[in-house]
Amino acid sequence: MAIIVQKFGGTSVANAEKIRRAARRVIERKQAGYQVVVVASARGHQTDELVRDALELNPNPPRREMDQLLSTGEQQTVSLFAMALEAMGCKAISFTGAQIRMLTDGVYSKAQIKSINGDFIRRELDQGRVAIVAGFQGIDMYGNVTTLGRGGSDTSAVALAAALKAEECEIFTDVDGVYTTDPRIFKQAVMLDEISYDEMLELASLGAGVMHIRSVAFGKRYNVKIRVRNSGNNNPGTIITHEVPQMEGVLVSGATIQKDMAKISLVGIPNVPGTAANVFARLAEAKVVVNDIMQTEVSPQKANIAFMVGTSDLQTAKEVAEDLKKELNCDDLFVRDDIALVSVVGVGMRSQYGVAEKMFGTLAKAKVNIDSITTSEIRISCAVGIDEVERALEAVCLAFELDKPARQRKPV
Ligand code: ASP
Ligand code: MG
Repeated sequence: MAIIVQKFGGTSVANAEKIRRAARRVIERKQAGYQVVVVASARGHQTDELVRDALELNPNPPRREMDQLLSTGEQQTVSLFAMALEAMGCKAISFTGAQIRMLTDGVYSKAQIKSINGDFIRRELDQGRVAIVAGFQGIDMYGNVTTLGRGGSDTSAVALAAALKAEECEIFTDVDGVYTTDPRIFKQAVMLDEISYDEMLELASLGAGVMHIRSVAFGKRYNVKIRVRNSGNNNPGTIITHEVPQMEGVLVSGATIQKDMAKISLVGIPNVPGTAANVFARLAEAKVVVNDIMQTEVSPQKANIAFMVGTSDLQTAKEVAEDLKKELNCDDLFVRDDIALVSVVGVGMRSQYGVAEKMFGTLAKAKVNIDSITTSEIRISCAVGIDEVERALEAVCLAFELDKPARQRKPV
Protein backbone atom coordinates (compact mmCIF):
# COMPACT_ATOMS: atom_id res chain seq x y z
CA MET A 1 0.00 0.00 0.00
CA ALA A 2 1.28 3.48 -0.83
CA ILE A 3 2.30 5.69 2.06
CA ILE A 4 1.68 9.41 2.28
CA VAL A 5 3.25 11.76 4.83
CA GLN A 6 1.17 14.77 5.86
CA LYS A 7 2.90 17.50 7.86
CA PHE A 8 0.81 20.06 9.74
CA GLY A 9 2.53 23.27 10.83
CA GLY A 10 1.77 25.19 14.02
CA THR A 11 -0.99 27.36 12.54
CA SER A 12 -2.74 24.31 11.08
CA VAL A 13 -3.11 22.67 14.52
CA ALA A 14 -3.45 25.84 16.62
CA ASN A 15 -6.68 24.78 18.37
CA ALA A 16 -9.15 21.91 18.70
CA GLU A 17 -11.17 22.96 15.65
CA LYS A 18 -8.05 23.10 13.49
CA ILE A 19 -6.81 19.74 14.74
CA ARG A 20 -10.19 18.27 13.79
CA ARG A 21 -9.94 19.87 10.37
CA ALA A 22 -6.46 18.40 9.90
CA ALA A 23 -7.72 15.01 11.11
CA ARG A 24 -10.42 15.09 8.43
CA ARG A 25 -7.73 15.50 5.78
CA VAL A 26 -5.98 12.46 7.17
CA ILE A 27 -9.17 10.41 7.04
CA GLU A 28 -9.81 11.47 3.44
CA ARG A 29 -6.43 10.05 2.45
CA LYS A 30 -6.97 6.93 4.47
CA GLN A 31 -10.31 6.37 2.77
CA ALA A 32 -8.63 6.85 -0.59
CA GLY A 33 -6.53 3.79 0.22
CA TYR A 34 -3.28 5.27 1.55
CA GLN A 35 -1.37 4.46 4.68
CA VAL A 36 -0.97 7.83 6.38
CA VAL A 37 1.87 9.17 8.53
CA VAL A 38 1.31 12.55 10.15
CA VAL A 39 4.11 14.83 11.32
CA ALA A 40 2.99 17.71 13.50
CA SER A 41 4.49 20.90 14.90
CA ALA A 42 3.75 22.56 18.22
CA ARG A 43 0.40 24.32 18.36
CA GLY A 44 0.33 28.01 17.38
CA HIS A 45 3.12 29.99 19.01
CA GLN A 46 3.83 27.41 21.68
CA THR A 47 7.50 27.03 20.86
CA ASP A 48 8.00 30.80 21.26
CA GLU A 49 6.16 30.66 24.58
CA LEU A 50 8.37 27.84 25.82
CA VAL A 51 11.45 29.83 24.85
CA ARG A 52 10.09 32.76 26.84
CA ASP A 53 9.39 30.54 29.87
CA ALA A 54 12.95 29.24 29.77
CA LEU A 55 14.54 32.68 29.51
CA GLU A 56 12.51 33.93 32.43
CA LEU A 57 14.17 31.36 34.67
CA ASN A 58 17.61 31.39 33.12
CA PRO A 59 18.90 33.92 30.58
CA ASN A 60 21.43 31.35 29.40
CA PRO A 61 19.65 27.99 29.65
CA PRO A 62 21.66 24.77 29.31
CA ARG A 63 21.28 23.71 25.69
CA ARG A 64 20.31 20.16 26.56
CA GLU A 65 17.47 21.35 28.80
CA MET A 66 16.30 23.79 26.15
CA ASP A 67 15.87 20.98 23.61
CA GLN A 68 14.25 18.79 26.21
CA LEU A 69 11.75 21.60 26.89
CA LEU A 70 11.04 22.67 23.30
CA SER A 71 10.39 19.10 22.20
CA THR A 72 7.35 18.98 24.50
CA GLY A 73 5.31 21.33 22.28
CA GLU A 74 5.20 18.79 19.45
CA GLN A 75 4.60 15.94 21.88
CA GLN A 76 1.37 17.56 23.02
CA THR A 77 0.14 18.04 19.48
CA VAL A 78 0.65 14.42 18.45
CA SER A 79 -1.26 12.87 21.31
CA LEU A 80 -4.09 15.37 20.90
CA PHE A 81 -4.13 14.61 17.18
CA ALA A 82 -4.36 10.87 17.88
CA MET A 83 -7.24 11.47 20.29
CA ALA A 84 -9.06 13.55 17.67
CA LEU A 85 -8.67 10.80 15.07
CA GLU A 86 -9.84 8.10 17.47
CA ALA A 87 -12.90 10.21 18.33
CA MET A 88 -13.67 10.32 14.62
CA GLY A 89 -13.45 6.55 14.38
CA CYS A 90 -9.97 6.33 12.89
CA LYS A 91 -7.35 4.17 14.61
CA ALA A 92 -4.27 6.21 15.47
CA ILE A 93 -1.09 6.12 17.55
CA SER A 94 1.34 8.92 18.38
CA PHE A 95 5.13 8.79 18.71
CA THR A 96 7.84 11.10 19.94
CA GLY A 97 11.03 11.37 17.89
CA ALA A 98 12.79 9.13 20.41
CA GLN A 99 10.13 6.44 20.17
CA ILE A 100 10.73 5.97 16.45
CA ARG A 101 14.52 6.20 16.96
CA MET A 102 14.92 9.38 14.96
CA LEU A 103 18.67 9.35 15.54
CA THR A 104 20.55 12.66 15.26
CA ASP A 105 24.00 13.98 16.07
CA GLY A 106 24.40 15.61 19.47
CA VAL A 107 24.30 19.25 18.36
CA TYR A 108 21.51 20.72 20.47
CA SER A 109 19.15 23.18 18.78
CA LYS A 110 20.43 22.34 15.29
CA ALA A 111 20.84 18.60 15.24
CA GLN A 112 21.18 16.73 11.95
CA ILE A 113 19.27 13.53 11.30
CA LYS A 114 21.49 10.46 10.95
CA SER A 115 19.00 7.62 10.64
CA ILE A 116 15.38 6.70 11.19
CA ASN A 117 13.99 3.30 12.04
CA GLY A 118 10.87 2.95 9.91
CA ASP A 119 9.90 -0.41 11.43
CA PHE A 120 7.98 1.03 14.39
CA ILE A 121 5.81 3.07 12.07
CA ARG A 122 5.38 0.38 9.42
CA ARG A 123 4.18 -2.09 12.01
CA GLU A 124 1.43 0.30 13.11
CA LEU A 125 0.47 1.22 9.56
CA ASP A 126 0.09 -2.45 8.74
CA GLN A 127 -2.31 -2.76 11.67
CA GLY A 128 -4.47 -0.13 9.99
CA ARG A 129 -3.45 2.76 12.25
CA VAL A 130 -2.44 6.29 11.36
CA ALA A 131 1.00 7.04 12.83
CA ILE A 132 1.44 10.55 14.20
CA VAL A 133 5.01 11.62 14.80
CA ALA A 134 6.28 14.63 16.72
CA GLY A 135 8.30 16.81 14.34
CA PHE A 136 11.38 18.89 15.07
CA GLN A 137 12.96 16.36 17.45
CA GLY A 138 15.20 13.33 17.67
CA ILE A 139 17.59 11.68 20.08
CA ASP A 140 21.34 11.40 20.01
CA MET A 141 23.25 8.15 20.55
CA TYR A 142 23.13 8.67 24.31
CA GLY A 143 19.37 9.12 24.38
CA ASN A 144 19.41 12.90 24.86
CA VAL A 145 16.54 14.72 23.19
CA THR A 146 17.70 17.01 20.38
CA THR A 147 15.87 19.50 18.16
CA LEU A 148 16.50 20.24 14.50
CA GLY A 149 16.37 24.05 14.52
CA ARG A 150 13.35 26.35 14.36
CA GLY A 151 10.96 25.29 11.64
CA GLY A 152 12.52 21.82 11.70
CA SER A 153 9.29 19.81 11.51
CA ASP A 154 9.41 20.16 7.73
CA THR A 155 12.71 18.33 7.81
CA SER A 156 11.32 15.60 10.07
CA ALA A 157 8.48 15.09 7.60
CA VAL A 158 10.62 14.92 4.48
CA ALA A 159 13.14 12.64 6.21
CA LEU A 160 10.33 10.29 7.26
CA ALA A 161 8.89 10.35 3.76
CA ALA A 162 12.33 9.34 2.48
CA ALA A 163 12.79 6.59 5.06
CA LEU A 164 9.32 5.13 4.37
CA LYS A 165 9.57 5.63 0.60
CA ALA A 166 6.34 7.61 0.70
CA GLU A 167 4.63 8.53 -2.53
CA GLU A 168 4.42 12.17 -1.49
CA CYS A 169 5.12 14.47 1.44
CA GLU A 170 2.40 17.06 1.89
CA ILE A 171 3.38 20.16 3.86
CA PHE A 172 0.21 21.82 5.15
CA THR A 173 0.56 25.46 6.05
CA ASP A 174 -1.43 28.72 6.08
CA VAL A 175 -0.63 29.77 2.52
CA ASP A 176 -1.73 28.15 -0.74
CA GLY A 177 1.75 27.20 -1.90
CA VAL A 178 4.97 28.76 -3.16
CA TYR A 179 4.51 32.10 -4.90
CA THR A 180 6.59 33.77 -7.61
CA THR A 181 7.40 36.38 -4.97
CA ASP A 182 6.11 37.66 -1.63
CA PRO A 183 2.44 38.61 -2.27
CA ARG A 184 2.58 41.06 0.63
CA ILE A 185 4.99 43.17 -1.41
CA PHE A 186 3.97 42.38 -4.98
CA LYS A 187 0.21 41.94 -4.91
CA GLN A 188 -0.03 40.32 -8.35
CA ALA A 189 2.31 37.45 -7.39
CA VAL A 190 0.96 34.08 -8.51
CA MET A 191 1.29 30.62 -7.10
CA LEU A 192 3.66 28.20 -8.81
CA ASP A 193 2.29 24.80 -9.80
CA GLU A 194 5.78 23.35 -9.72
CA ILE A 195 9.26 24.36 -8.71
CA SER A 196 12.56 22.48 -8.78
CA TYR A 197 14.48 21.60 -5.63
CA ASP A 198 17.37 23.81 -6.73
CA GLU A 199 15.14 26.83 -7.24
CA MET A 200 13.43 26.23 -3.92
CA LEU A 201 16.80 25.96 -2.19
CA GLU A 202 17.88 29.28 -3.65
CA LEU A 203 14.58 30.96 -2.77
CA ALA A 204 14.67 29.58 0.77
CA SER A 205 18.23 30.79 1.33
CA LEU A 206 17.19 34.18 -0.06
CA GLY A 207 14.64 34.51 2.69
CA ALA A 208 11.45 33.10 1.14
CA GLY A 209 10.26 31.56 4.40
CA VAL A 210 7.92 28.87 3.09
CA MET A 211 9.99 25.84 4.06
CA HIS A 212 12.85 24.83 6.29
CA ILE A 213 15.79 24.85 3.91
CA ARG A 214 17.22 21.52 5.07
CA SER A 215 13.96 19.79 4.27
CA VAL A 216 14.34 20.79 0.63
CA ALA A 217 17.92 19.55 0.56
CA PHE A 218 16.71 16.25 2.00
CA GLY A 219 13.96 16.03 -0.58
CA LYS A 220 16.42 16.56 -3.37
CA ARG A 221 18.87 14.02 -2.06
CA TYR A 222 16.33 11.28 -1.45
CA ASN A 223 13.94 12.06 -4.27
CA VAL A 224 10.93 12.96 -2.16
CA LYS A 225 8.08 14.62 -3.98
CA ILE A 226 7.04 17.52 -1.73
CA ARG A 227 3.74 19.38 -2.01
CA VAL A 228 3.20 22.64 -0.14
CA ARG A 229 -0.51 23.34 0.37
CA ASN A 230 -3.06 25.17 2.47
CA SER A 231 -4.66 23.25 5.35
CA GLY A 232 -7.72 25.49 5.03
CA ASN A 233 -8.71 24.75 1.44
CA ASN A 234 -8.42 22.16 -1.30
CA ASN A 235 -6.07 23.95 -3.68
CA PRO A 236 -3.52 21.55 -5.15
CA GLY A 237 -0.60 23.68 -3.91
CA THR A 238 2.95 23.71 -5.26
CA ILE A 239 4.95 20.60 -6.05
CA ILE A 240 8.68 20.68 -5.36
CA THR A 241 10.41 18.11 -7.50
CA HIS A 242 13.27 17.37 -9.84
CA GLU A 243 13.83 19.59 -12.79
CA VAL A 244 11.68 18.61 -15.75
CA PRO A 245 12.45 19.82 -19.28
CA GLN A 246 9.57 22.30 -19.44
CA MET A 247 10.96 24.15 -16.40
CA GLU A 248 13.85 25.23 -18.57
CA GLY A 249 11.50 27.11 -20.84
CA VAL A 250 10.75 29.49 -17.97
CA LEU A 251 13.45 32.10 -17.63
CA VAL A 252 12.73 33.12 -14.05
CA SER A 253 10.57 31.24 -11.56
CA GLY A 254 10.72 33.55 -8.59
CA ALA A 255 12.10 36.75 -7.12
CA THR A 256 12.92 37.77 -3.57
CA ILE A 257 14.15 40.68 -1.54
CA GLN A 258 16.30 40.56 1.57
CA LYS A 259 16.43 43.66 3.69
CA ASP A 260 18.53 42.44 6.58
CA MET A 261 21.82 42.51 4.69
CA ALA A 262 24.84 44.81 4.83
CA LYS A 263 27.96 45.06 2.71
CA ILE A 264 31.50 45.55 3.90
CA SER A 265 34.26 46.50 1.46
CA LEU A 266 37.97 46.49 2.16
CA VAL A 267 39.58 48.67 -0.51
CA GLY A 268 43.22 48.41 -1.54
CA ILE A 269 44.24 45.25 0.29
CA PRO A 270 47.66 43.71 -0.49
CA ASN A 271 47.41 41.64 -3.68
CA VAL A 272 49.43 38.69 -2.34
CA PRO A 273 48.64 35.04 -1.57
CA GLY A 274 46.90 34.55 1.75
CA THR A 275 45.07 37.88 2.11
CA ALA A 276 41.59 36.52 1.41
CA ALA A 277 42.33 33.46 3.56
CA ASN A 278 43.30 35.76 6.41
CA VAL A 279 40.22 38.00 6.07
CA PHE A 280 37.75 35.11 6.09
CA ALA A 281 39.58 33.16 8.77
CA ARG A 282 39.21 36.17 11.05
CA LEU A 283 35.52 36.52 10.24
CA ALA A 284 34.97 32.81 10.83
CA GLU A 285 36.78 33.03 14.16
CA ALA A 286 34.36 35.79 15.14
CA LYS A 287 31.49 33.47 14.03
CA VAL A 288 30.29 35.84 11.33
CA VAL A 289 28.25 34.14 8.61
CA VAL A 290 29.40 35.57 5.30
CA ASN A 291 27.18 35.55 2.21
CA ASP A 292 28.19 36.70 -1.26
CA ILE A 293 31.89 37.45 -1.61
CA MET A 294 33.38 39.65 -4.32
CA GLN A 295 37.10 40.13 -4.90
CA THR A 296 38.78 41.94 -7.77
CA GLU A 297 42.37 42.83 -8.56
CA VAL A 298 42.73 46.56 -9.16
CA SER A 299 46.49 46.67 -9.81
CA PRO A 300 49.42 44.27 -9.51
CA GLN A 301 49.80 45.45 -5.90
CA LYS A 302 46.24 45.96 -4.78
CA ALA A 303 42.86 44.25 -4.70
CA ASN A 304 39.41 44.96 -3.27
CA ILE A 305 37.36 42.51 -1.24
CA ALA A 306 33.69 42.97 -0.44
CA PHE A 307 31.22 40.65 1.25
CA MET A 308 27.67 40.61 2.52
CA VAL A 309 26.65 39.79 6.07
CA GLY A 310 23.33 39.66 7.84
CA THR A 311 22.61 42.79 9.91
CA SER A 312 22.66 40.68 13.07
CA ASP A 313 26.37 39.99 12.42
CA LEU A 314 27.16 43.51 11.21
CA GLN A 315 28.58 44.94 14.43
CA THR A 316 31.00 42.04 14.91
CA ALA A 317 31.94 42.01 11.22
CA LYS A 318 32.63 45.75 11.33
CA GLU A 319 34.96 45.36 14.30
CA VAL A 320 36.88 42.58 12.55
CA ALA A 321 37.08 44.67 9.36
CA GLU A 322 38.39 47.70 11.26
CA ASP A 323 41.19 45.61 12.78
CA LEU A 324 41.99 44.15 9.36
CA LYS A 325 42.10 47.59 7.78
CA LYS A 326 44.84 48.60 10.22
CA GLU A 327 46.77 45.35 10.03
CA LEU A 328 46.68 45.08 6.24
CA ASN A 329 47.18 48.77 5.73
CA CYS A 330 44.14 49.05 3.45
CA ASP A 331 43.30 52.28 1.65
CA ASP A 332 39.71 52.31 2.83
CA LEU A 333 36.86 50.50 4.55
CA PHE A 334 33.25 51.00 3.44
CA VAL A 335 30.24 49.72 5.28
CA ARG A 336 26.80 49.98 3.72
CA ASP A 337 23.88 49.06 5.94
CA ASP A 338 21.37 50.93 3.79
CA ILE A 339 21.20 48.29 1.08
CA ALA A 340 18.96 45.34 0.30
CA LEU A 341 19.15 42.52 -2.20
CA VAL A 342 16.75 41.88 -5.03
CA SER A 343 17.24 38.47 -6.63
CA VAL A 344 15.75 36.41 -9.42
CA VAL A 345 15.96 32.62 -9.54
CA GLY A 346 15.31 30.18 -12.36
CA VAL A 347 16.79 26.97 -13.74
CA GLY A 348 16.06 28.35 -17.22
CA MET A 349 19.11 30.60 -16.78
CA ARG A 350 21.31 27.57 -17.28
CA SER A 351 20.31 27.20 -20.87
CA GLN A 352 19.06 30.60 -21.95
CA TYR A 353 20.72 33.97 -22.30
CA GLY A 354 19.49 37.49 -21.72
CA VAL A 355 18.43 37.22 -18.07
CA ALA A 356 21.17 39.49 -16.77
CA GLU A 357 20.55 42.02 -19.50
CA LYS A 358 16.84 42.06 -18.77
CA MET A 359 17.37 42.38 -15.01
CA PHE A 360 19.86 45.25 -15.27
CA GLY A 361 17.90 46.96 -18.06
CA THR A 362 14.76 46.84 -15.95
CA LEU A 363 16.51 48.35 -12.94
CA ALA A 364 18.01 51.05 -15.16
CA LYS A 365 14.60 51.94 -16.55
CA ALA A 366 13.24 52.12 -13.02
CA LYS A 367 16.18 54.43 -12.17
CA VAL A 368 17.41 52.09 -9.44
CA ASN A 369 21.16 52.20 -8.96
CA ILE A 370 22.93 48.85 -8.56
CA ASP A 371 25.57 48.78 -5.84
CA SER A 372 26.88 45.30 -6.57
CA ILE A 373 25.96 42.14 -8.44
CA THR A 374 26.43 38.48 -7.54
CA THR A 375 25.28 35.38 -9.38
CA SER A 376 25.04 31.63 -9.16
CA GLU A 377 24.19 29.27 -11.98
CA ILE A 378 20.48 29.85 -11.41
CA ARG A 379 20.36 33.21 -9.59
CA ILE A 380 21.17 36.88 -10.11
CA SER A 381 21.24 39.20 -7.11
CA CYS A 382 21.63 42.97 -7.11
CA ALA A 383 22.30 45.06 -4.02
CA VAL A 384 20.30 48.29 -4.26
CA GLY A 385 19.34 51.11 -1.88
CA ILE A 386 17.00 49.81 0.80
CA ASP A 387 14.45 52.55 0.07
CA GLU A 388 14.27 51.46 -3.55
CA VAL A 389 14.17 47.70 -3.16
CA GLU A 390 10.40 47.22 -3.19
CA ARG A 391 10.11 49.34 -6.32
CA ALA A 392 12.97 47.33 -7.82
CA LEU A 393 11.21 44.05 -7.01
CA GLU A 394 8.01 45.24 -8.59
CA ALA A 395 9.77 46.31 -11.79
CA VAL A 396 11.65 43.01 -12.00
CA CYS A 397 8.50 40.96 -11.36
CA LEU A 398 6.66 42.75 -14.15
CA ALA A 399 9.60 42.39 -16.53
CA PHE A 400 9.79 38.64 -15.96
CA GLU A 401 5.98 38.32 -15.92
CA LEU A 402 5.90 36.93 -12.40
CA ASP A 403 2.32 38.15 -12.25
CA LYS A 404 1.30 35.35 -14.65
CA PRO A 405 1.38 31.59 -14.37
CA ALA A 406 4.39 30.14 -16.20
CA ARG A 407 2.32 28.71 -19.04
CA GLN A 408 0.83 32.11 -19.85
CA ARG A 409 4.13 33.93 -20.15
CA LYS A 410 5.54 34.93 -23.49
CA PRO A 411 7.97 32.27 -24.73
CA VAL A 412 11.62 33.31 -24.55
N1 ASP B 1 7.77 24.11 16.64
C1 ASP B 1 9.04 24.34 16.04
C2 ASP B 1 9.21 25.81 15.75
O1 ASP B 1 8.33 26.60 16.05
C3 ASP B 1 9.28 23.51 14.83
C4 ASP B 1 8.38 23.78 13.66
O2 ASP B 1 7.43 24.54 13.73
O3 ASP B 1 8.64 23.24 12.57
O4 ASP B 1 10.21 26.22 15.26
MG1 MG C 1 6.93 25.76 10.87
